[in-house]
Amino acid sequence: MDKVLISGAGLAGLSAAINLAKEGYEVNVFERNKDVGQRFHGDLQGLENWSEKEDVLAEIRKMSIDTNFDCHPFSIITATNSIKTNEVTTLKKPLYYLVKRGNVDNSLDFGLKEQALDAGVNIHFEKTINEEDADIVATGPVLENVVGVVKGITFKTDLKDTATVLFNNEAAFKGYSYLLVTKGYGCMSSVLLDNFNKTDSCFRKTKEFFSNLYKFNIEEARNCGGMGCFSINSRFKKGKTIFVGEAAGLQDLFLGFGMRYAITSGFQAARSIINDEDYEIMAKSCFEGKLKAGIVNRYLWEKLNKNNYSLAVNNFNWIINNFNWIYNYNMFWRILYPFALNGMRRRYNWFK
Ligand SMILES: Cc1cc2nc3c(=O)[nH]c(=O)nc-3n(C[C@H](O)[C@H](O)[C@H](O)COP(=O)(O)OP(=O)(O)OC[C@H]3O[C@@H](n4cnc5c(N)ncnc54)[C@H](O)[C@@H]3O)c2cc1C
Repeated sequence: MDKVLISGAGLAGLSAAINLAKEGYEVNVFERNKDVGQRFHGDLQGLENWSEKEDVLAEIRKMSIDTNFDCHPFSIITATNSIKTNEVTTLKKPLYYLVKRGNVDNSLDFGLKEQALDAGVNIHFEKTINEEDADIVATGPVLENVVGVVKGITFKTDLKDTATVLFNNEAAFKGYSYLLVTKGYGCMSSVLLDNFNKTDSCFRKTKEFFSNLYKFNIEEARNCGGMGCFSINSRFKKGKTIFVGEAAGLQDLFLGFGMRYAITSGFQAARSIINDEDYEIMAKSCFEGKLKAGIVNRYLWEKLNKNNYSLAVNNFNWIINNFNWIYNYNMFWRILYPFALNGMRRRYNWFK
């Protein structure tokens, strides 16, 4: 195959496109919107640096992708449940890199678009193709798999750089709220993992809480947010068509960090075509354990944090410094998985 058709110009689709075009393939990407990143609004998102031992930026560069976007390392994170506050510093490497998403200068989406165009990819905006005609489907969230809803704002501020996360069900039901500021640019959001009808009231509470914690100004506020999808039955292939990113159900059920999975799965899809390897085998060996770990993590998180998240905040240092172990489907998680699966099935209708 020397021509490849990709549906969706998100992180997963562009990662695949860049790699294929660099190997000489004729790549056509069909994007339903008028530009890349339209489901985001300048949000700050964390490119997580804990699920693998290797630094995420080094890994991305090995995937033939340049870091031509704003990217700020964060090694300090503050957690609070509104009663107790705990600040943790990671020593070995940054916990994550903050990037901008969507239609703003130097965003991750614009950076990947530029690299794809430079590599000779044809991106057809406001055009779609049928799923079965695409070689790679990278169309993002699948509506019936929505497990989280995010509501927030981006803004300009004088507040110094911070990454503060709030665990409080009134501010983010079963999820978390966050306040991120880098170089005078901020993003404050609530991530709800249930009771989505409480989104507005939760975000009001989040704003109130952070305004009391830090006295800070909010200028030029813009709404941001969206939804996250997860599927226990990840679909990596249907017929000849390969699925990547959230379209494949690749999402971290615990905290909703899907960007690294999206970029990696796009890269793997490209390698499977270039080397004529079975993408399904590659994707399963890379992601199955992580997806299962996400289920165990979410189950334990909900079970152990009924008491105002005090366990999480009190032990935040241990959690953060053991994130790699927690995320990698270790022996204990394998034993717990069947219980977690049953527990989650009993708890949620969507968990089929
Ligand atoms: C508010 C919010 C905050 C988040 N924060 C984080 C975070 O801090 N860290 C993290 O790692 N992850 C975060 N995530 C998740 C992360 O953004 C996603 O997992 C990631 O963007 C998925 O990439 P993707 O390429 O699969 O999909 P997308 O980035 O959604 O790209 C899919 C593309 O396909 C296009 N498309 C859709 N349907 C069609 C069609 N039929 N034909 C053609 N094109 C189509 C869309 O327009 C879009 O451009 C967050 C998500 C949200 C909503």
